[in-house]
Amino acid sequence: MSTTTTSYKALVGGAFVDSLGGETMDVVAPATGDVIASVPRCTADDVDRAVEAAAAAWETWSQKTPKDRSELLHRMADVMDEHAEELAQLESVNVGKPLMASRDEMPFSADNLRFFAGAARHLEGKSAGEYIEGYTSIIRREPLGIVAGICPWNYPLMMAVWKLGPALAAGNVSIIKPSEQTPLSLLRWVQLCVEKDVLPPGVVQVVTGDGVPVGSRLVEHPDVRLVSVTGDVATGKTIARNAADTVKRVHLELGGKAPMVVFDDADPVAVAEGIRLAGYWNSGQDCTAGSRVIAGPKIYDKLLEALVPQVESLKVGDPMESDEIEMGSVISPAQQERILGFLERASSATVLTGGGTGGRDRGWFVAPTVVADVKQTDEIVQDEVFGPVVTVQRFDDDAQAIQWANDVRYGLAASVWTRDVGRALEAVRKLQFGTVWVNDHLLPITSEMPHGGYKQSGYGKDMSAYSMEEYTQIKHAAFKL
Ligand code: NAD
Repeated sequence: MSTTTTSYKALVGGAFVDSLGGETMDVVAPATGDVIASVPRCTADDVDRAVEAAAAAWETWSQKTPKDRSELLHRMADVMDEHAEELAQLESVNVGKPLMASRDEMPFSADNLRFFAGAARHLEGKSAGEYIEGYTSIIRREPLGIVAGICPWNYPLMMAVWKLGPALAAGNVSIIKPSEQTPLSLLRWVQLCVEKDVLPPGVVQVVTGDGVPVGSRLVEHPDVRLVSVTGDVATGKTIARNAADTVKRVHLELGGKAPMVVFDDADPVAVAEGIRLAGYWNSGQDCTAGSRVIAGPKIYDKLLEALVPQVESLKVGDPMESDEIEMGSVISPAQQERILGFLERASSATVLTGGGTGGRDRGWFVAPTVVADVKQTDEIVQDEVFGPVVTVQRFDDDAQAIQWANDVRYGLAASVWTRDVGRALEAVRKLQFGTVWVNDHLLPITSEMPHGGYKQSGYGKDMSAYSMEEYTQIKHAAFKL
């Protein structure tokens, strides 16, 4: 993969354009620190131009049938499949993530598009009938119009797909704002879709730039009917507040602090293998990363004995060096500093392995880290680190395990490890999280099943038929007989 600088453009009204002000911003490969591309630094004026183009496209797009919408999504999925390796390479270099991870994401994202291609033709509602004497009532499930997706840097293409799939399936036109740090795989995919004559002008726009002013203008714009954001809790709160001015619908997919509750009857080796993946996949920069292990009194020592060598066996490095790399860099120097700051402040904790940059002289790395002797109230247990850091706590009884697991402001994902079905069912019932896995963590996700948070992890669902509800509105029409 070459690291020469490539200039990308924003997609507005079917054309690839510079920002109106002509400014650009650099995109960096975090595993090396090299500048690899530039993209337009768009402003509020560019958002307004994209909204105008979307409104123009809506005139014709809103006349399309579910079959037409379905066909578009299938063709977009085909383009992704045909260029999966190129897109995976670009994603890998831009995010600093292992090729094995980005190669996994492409077919999964294409499958997601195909799921929504099917969902476009299966919108359900209440049956028409005479609910009031002398009247026939019908329900229409209609698109919202112009919707916006604001994406994070950790899974840039997949998060954009999670927002585009249901938006287009339901008949909306969409404006996507990728993360300022990782816009490349999305820009390349839409470029391919336009070049291959797959994407009708204006149905999808991509506007690059910073959260403020690009994201904020999308949130403010009166003609944008929904904003779906995946990002930090603080960003979600700002967006929800700002969206109130135009009574805009908001879908929030925010941070997480996932517990892995390990009961004494679990297999310590299987759990350690599970943590190796769940805690360190994408350098732990995953909103569902298993970041808090809460282990029973009898399994605690055996688990640590199995876990430390597992974590130390991770192959860390620049993903472009080898297909064998299992963990890459973190996204930026600021993120590296943030993660190491959590470790410095956890002064009473014991770092069992990791804890520094891993001694690499280029890029922004954090060594895979396991931390014990932490208290439930410690910052490192309470706040999302978003890095390759896993804390381990020892609980006294089942009630304390569940209480600790729930005792954070987040509620996105959790897992329970036990051979006892009754104990697992009880834990699933009591855990306040939008996803609970039993005897696994992180990867069991599928297009048919919803992904979304409880508590401050947000509201609304990505993936699954549930997400179609976010992107549609219900109309009742009553006909006097
Ligand atoms: P972030 O909150 O910094 O940025 C997310 C997006 O919001 C970016 O595109 C950014 O430019 C934009 N933004 C920032 N300020 C804005 C504003 N005032 N108005 C409108 N848009 C604004 O998040 P990030 O650092 O890119 O991603 C990491 C966070 O995302 C973590 O907290 C992680 O847990 C979360 N995340 C959640 C999920 C999920 O499904 N729940 C998935 C992936 C990541």
